Amino acid sequence: VAGGPPRCKLVLLGDSGVGKSALVQRQCRGTFNPDMTVTVGAAFLAHTLSLPSGVAVKFEIWDTAGQERYESLAPLYYRGATAAAIVFDVSSEKSFARAQHWVAELQRHASQRPLMVLVGNKTDLPAEERAVTREAAAELADSNDMLYIETSAKTGSNVAALFELIAEHIAAPPPT
Ligand code: GDP
Ligand code: MG
Repeated sequence: VAGGPPRCKLVLLGDSGVGKSALVQRQCRGTFNPDMTVTVGAAFLAHTLSLPSGVAVKFEIWDTAGQERYESLAPLYYRGATAAAIVFDVSSEKSFARAQHWVAELQRHASQRPLMVLVGNKTDLPAEERAVTREAAAELADSNDMLYIETSAKTGSNVAALFELIAEHIAAPPPT
């Protein structure tokens, strides 16, 4: 085992518009900008997170674009990834279908599968806009050995918890 703080190559996957870049910006800068520009290709950010245990995890975050025309590039980002956050928008059925597609794609490379976390974002939206139930998402996560968390990049709800969840699993992987 190499020395130094644990590193985590984290890739964010999911339909365009679900809030991947907003989640990264909320975590790394503590802000939410409703007029943020659309990601082209992929954006890279380095971010160090200190856990309550004192362990610092160095994240190398690849925030992918999500548009279907970039889909063939995705393996460049998820191959060799330590963790993958598959993000959907809880108000968009289509984005949940896209998330299922990414889950299936990552499962196909089971031997070197990253830690997978399903993320339902935009929980701040009014309940009547909700299109994907927590139960449906939790079931997808359960049946694919993924973690599940619901977030709002807008209010910041659970965003730190998402990154801590990943960091904790990377710093101290559960016994296999
Ligand atoms: P990406 O394409 O997945 O990177 O999505 P963006 O981060 O660019 O966000 C797409 C749109 O959704 C933007 O207009 C954001 O302001 C908005 N958005 C992102 N996260 C949230 C959220 O948690 N709640 C709400 N209400 N809007 C969000
Ligand atoms: Mg983006």
